[in-house]
Amino acid sequence: MEDNFDAEAAKCLIDSEITNVTEKNPIRELGKIVVGLATIIISAYIIIFFVSGIILTNLPETRRAQLEEILTKPSKETPIEISSETYNRLEKIKNDILNADPKFSKTSDVKINIVKSNDINAYSYPNGDIDITEKLYDELKSDEELAFIIAHEMGHYKHKDHLMHLRRNIATGATIIIFSIFNPNGDITKVASGSIQLSDLSFSRTDEMNADKYAIDMLNKIYGNAKAGIKVMEILKEKNKFNIEFMSTHPDLEKRIQYIEKYSN
Ligand SMILES: [Zn+2]
Repeated sequence: MEDNFDAEAAKCLIDSEITNVTEKNPIRELGKIVVGLATIIISAYIIIFFVSGIILTNLPETRRAQLEEILTKPSKETPIEISSETYNRLEKIKNDILNADPKFSKTSDVKINIVKSNDINAYSYPNGDIDITEKLYDELKSDEELAFIIAHEMGHYKHKDHLMHLRRNIATGATIIIFSIFNPNGDITKVASGSIQLSDLSFSRTDEMNADKYAIDMLNKIYGNAKAGIKVMEILKEKNKFNIEFMSTHPDLEKRIQYIEKYSN
C-alpha cells in the first residue's frame, strides 16, 4: 500500500514536470530558433561581405577594370551631342584634376558625358565615367563649380565606392541564395532578404563626405580654394527644393556646406 502510494506520488510528480515542460518549451524553443536563424543570417552576411570586400579590393588592376566595364555597360545612358567648346571645357577640367592628383588610377579614361534628364544630378559609373545631366550642366556657370562636381564623382572612383557598394549586393544576393537552397518554400528566405535589403542603400554618407573631401582638395590645389563647392550645394538645394526623392537621399546639404567651409583654403 505504501509502495503504491509512493508510486502514485512519483507519477504525479513526473506528470506535473511533463506538464511544466510542455507549457514552457514551445516559446523558449521558438525563441531559440529565431535567435539562431538571425545569428546565422547575420553571420553569413558579414562573412560574405568581408570576404568579397577583400577579394574586390585585391583584384589585379586589369581584372578590376574588366569587372568595372561589365558593371557599367547595362546602365550606361546615351549622351547628347555637345559642342567642341563644351568638350574642351570638360577635358581641360578633367586634366587639371588628373594633374593635381598624379596617383589617380589609370584604369579609367574618365569619359565625361552630358545626358538628357529632368533631374539636376551627376553620377559616376563603376568604370569611372561620369554623366552630368544637361540641367545641372546649365546651372554650373563657372569652371570651379563644374570642377567640384567632376572631382566629387572622380572621388567615388578613386575610393572604389562602386566596388564597395557591390560587395553589399554580393553579400545580400549570396545570403538569399544560401537560404533559398535550405528553405526553398521561402519563409526564411523572405525574412532574410527583407531584413538585409534595409542595409542596401546607395553610397553611404561617409562615401559622399569622402568624395566631397577629395573635390575640396582638388579645388584647393587647382584654384587655391574650394568655395565653389558651396555654390554647387546651394544650386542643388535650391533647384531640388520640390524633389522629394532627391531631398530624402541628400539630407545633408547643410552639413556638406559646413564641411567645405572647414576644409577650403
Ligand atoms: Zn556622390
